[in-house]
Amino acid sequence: MGSIAENIRSVRERIARAAERAGRRPEDILLVGASKMNDAAACREAVAAGIDALGENRVQEMTEKLAQHAYDGAPVHFIGHLQRNKVRQVVGNVSLIHSAGSLELLEEIDRQAKKRGLVQDVLLEVNIGREASKSGFDPDALFDAAARAREFEAVRVLGLMAIPPAAEEPHGNFRYFEKVCRLSVDIAENLYDNGFEYLSMGMSDDFEDAIAAGANMVRVGSAIFGHRPYQTTTGGFT
Ligand SMILES: *Cc1c(COP(=O)(O)O)cnc(C)c1O
Repeated sequence: MGSIAENIRSVRERIARAAERAGRRPEDILLVGASKMNDAAACREAVAAGIDALGENRVQEMTEKLAQHAYDGAPVHFIGHLQRNKVRQVVGNVSLIHSAGSLELLEEIDRQAKKRGLVQDVLLEVNIGREASKSGFDPDALFDAAARAREFEAVRVLGLMAIPPAAEEPHGNFRYFEKVCRLSVDIAENLYDNGFEYLSMGMSDDFEDAIAAGANMVRVGSAIFGHRPYQTTTGGFT
């Protein structure tokens, strides 16, 4: 692996090629660096190299890195599983929450945003593989949830996010990405006046397939920052 800046450059090139193959403009695809378990210096390097945003998974880690000015110069997003009792620490501190995956969570985001006198931008997370281990709305419940979500005054829904099941073969997630894209188009047309801006899907191993299926926001960690230490022991992220 090269430096963080070199890795970002090569990921951007791959994004550009995937976008062109799909007949889309490279600059329309936003690159979110998934910076969990990487320190403030690594985040600053990514910001200096022109990353579009950094995404964090754990509230405590993010809070510490915010205090260290790790993200100065780039927006920070919350992309991990969010617990209701931690919403207060996230609302207003991030420009986008990717992981709004239940009505209870949306309600709490709305409540905390009102308290702070702001409107929080969110994506609705869809559990596209219907996995018990993952959070997010069931695909069949998503349309109704998206309709309800419009009623929260201090929450603005800007699109969808999904993490498909771990792929068993190359391109194994393409069909899930396509499903999410269809849900997104349907909801945007029927409920949001075509006003969905973002479709957040695709990680280091599959962001090109996600772009081919319609993603315009990819969350890339290890291809930028290198392998996280715990990946070798647990084989996944939390
Ligand atoms: C860690 C993480 C990513 C990035 O994963 P990589 O495989 O390292 O690119 C993307 N999205 C979420 C929600 C993550 O937790």
